[in-house]
Amino acid sequence: MVKKTVLITGASRGIGSACAKVFAREGYNIILNFLSSESEALELAGELSKKGTEVLPFRADVSDFKQVKEMVEAGQRRFGKIDALICNAGISQQKLFTDITPEEWHRMMSVTVDAAFYCCQAVLPGMIRRQKGKIVLVSSIWGMVGASCEVHYSTAKAALIGLTKSLAKELGPSNINVNCVAPGIIETDMNSSLDSETREVLAQETPLGRFGTPWEIAEAVYFLASEKSDFITGQILSPNGGFVI
Ligand code: NAP
Repeated sequence: MVKKTVLITGASRGIGSACAKVFAREGYNIILNFLSSESEALELAGELSKKGTEVLPFRADVSDFKQVKEMVEAGQRRFGKIDALICNAGISQQKLFTDITPEEWHRMMSVTVDAAFYCCQAVLPGMIRRQKGKIVLVSSIWGMVGASCEVHYSTAKAALIGLTKSLAKELGPSNINVNCVAPGIIETDMNSSLDSETREVLAQETPLGRFGTPWEIAEAVYFLASEKSDFITGQILSPNGGFVI
């Protein structure tokens, strides 16, 4: 049987790295995108290769149209096709709305929204030709309910929810599923700057009483990329410990 291939953006660390491990476990070839964390990406690629997974580590800034196109072409040359796209790369920033500079605003939009547009557009011709494909966009609970002092982040993540719903409608007739995972608060580098008091408050505000793990998000992402979710499209799955219900 021909192996399936997944492209995971931001797979060098955190949730993306956990996704790479889960898809490897499920027998996928992996296009492992990273930007600055080269050593982490290469170490992960080496670890997965040793277990028999074919991995193409690829440095690309997902906010750059040309770099995304080159990455997708390289993946298609190496593996023949891309069956699933996971748009996971992301950045965060805590700031008062009135202090956000135009550069910071545009960077947030380009790494989150432009990147999803570029990645989806680049993989779609192949998926449409084959009349099969899975796209999962990683948003956030803050894209669902909004976060104070993260207005640009919340706005960009909300845009991914709009992209998910509208693209799902457009691509349904081509048998391509587009879904969204909107995680709650997850134990990754993104939250490493939180002080212990804030961590305590956030955990207490979560009915399940703790932060989530990257694995718990990766399993949700994998579910939406697998055949088990073939009749699910345009949906937002939010593993958040009950933080947002
Ligand atoms: P993380 O540990 O900070 O990892 C971020 C990843 O994104 C890294 O692999 C990084 O790559 C990559 N990345 C950033 N900018 C990039 C760019 N321009 N081009 C390519 N790759 C880029 O974050 P995480 O917590 O795993 O977050 C993953 C996703 O989940 C993000 O979209 C985030 O917004 C979302 N999320 C996270 C949480 C949470 O609580 N952690 C909650 C909700 C949603 P390099 O290091 O190689 O540059």
